[in-house]
Amino acid sequence: MKALVVDDCAVARELLVLALENYTEVDQVESGVDAVKMVEAALDSDSPYDLICMDLNMPGMTGHDALRLIRQKEADRSSQHLSKIFMVTASSSPDDMMEALLAGDCDDYLTKPVLMNTLKELLQKHQIADPVSLKPSTL
Ligand SMILES: [Mg+2]
Repeated sequence: MKALVVDDCAVARELLVLALENYTEVDQVESGVDAVKMVEAALDSDSPYDLICMDLNMPGMTGHDALRLIRQKEADRSSQHLSKIFMVTASSSPDDMMEALLAGDCDDYLTKPVLMNTLKELLQKHQIADPVSLKPSTL
């Protein structure tokens, strides 16, 4: 089990990394371009990410663009394993979230500030983390 956190804001990134480290190994990058590189490397070494948390608003490549490219890389490699991808955004952009969800590219979304319990619920919902590691005491 491994996860990738993508966010241009260091504080937001660190908080999410700390929360996820209760459940899994976590890598982090600060741009969509770096995220796509990390995903490609993971696919090439046959150890794809189980979960990617992707900030929507980033300078340069947006979260949406990175999301599409990542799905394309998975498709190019006919990967049997599709990462679960949660988009992370400020609550003020519901239209953006709907776009990603309706397109079927992302699996779910989180609004900032990400609450521990919300994150845990999504991990359970998508059966990402081992249920044992999701017991309340780990939070
Ligand atoms: Mg951002």
